[in-house]
Amino acid sequence: MKTIAEGYTKVILEAENPGQIIMRFKDTASAYHAIKRATIAGKGAYANRISARLFGLLADAGVENHFIKLLSDNEQLCQKTDVLPLRVIVRNIAAGSIVRRFGIEEGTAFKTPVYEMNYKSAQLDDPFMNSHMAVAMGFVSYDEMEHISRLAHRVNEVLIKVFADCGINLIDFKLEFGRTADGRLIVADEISPDTCRLWDKMSGQRLDKDRFRRDMGDIIEAYREVWKRVCGESDENK
Ligand code: UDP
Repeated sequence: MKTIAEGYTKVILEAENPGQIIMRFKDTASAYHAIKRATIAGKGAYANRISARLFGLLADAGVENHFIKLLSDNEQLCQKTDVLPLRVIVRNIAAGSIVRRFGIEEGTAFKTPVYEMNYKSAQLDDPFMNSHMAVAMGFVSYDEMEHISRLAHRVNEVLIKVFADCGINLIDFKLEFGRTADGRLIVADEISPDTCRLWDKMSGQRLDKDRFRRDMGDIIEAYREVWKRVCGESDENK
């Protein structure tokens, strides 16, 4: 299988069907633009399965996305899309960069979700971008920007409930969007403890990549816990 692209945590491979791709999740963790890196056995499989389950639940809720099916422990089949060079961050509770940038106390609940957008460029430190700029740079139209906002809002509603039902607070998360061959924008990439902040409702324990970023304890234990709670009996690869 030919490699289309390789990042720190995933490899994108060609699939038999040219309209599809295979995402292979690696056992690597990276933070701070890969200044901090590590190999963590088993992490790829948990991220793959958790992401597959969440995308499946999003599809059930009517949120169109690129996920097709799990192929193996570390691989999933997805629809091929042209991924936009921007990230949408959705925040329900203040944590991470917004705490530093705005001086908000970590753990402060926002009255309404905060939506942010970044331009994907490690070289430029992922600068802040707004919808006018995304349109001006030719990435999307205003109508598409509205569609992205609606999708982000809906994903947040669905995921808040999915996680709440298993005793987890969804603090924030990152979304990426891909353009299909016929021009529709759908949710792409992954949604996992690598791309979300997840705090245990009872203990406040971090169940996400902050364990790695901030040396807050065993990473695999946290990812396994999220997998157990989110995938439970539904995981065909158990
Ligand atoms: N995030 C991500 N990829 C990125 C940037 C952020 O998955 O390149 C996720 C991150 O894991 C967190 C949320 O988006 O769940 C908000 O991240 P933040 O802006 O607070 O940045 P960070 O603290 O990760 O530097």
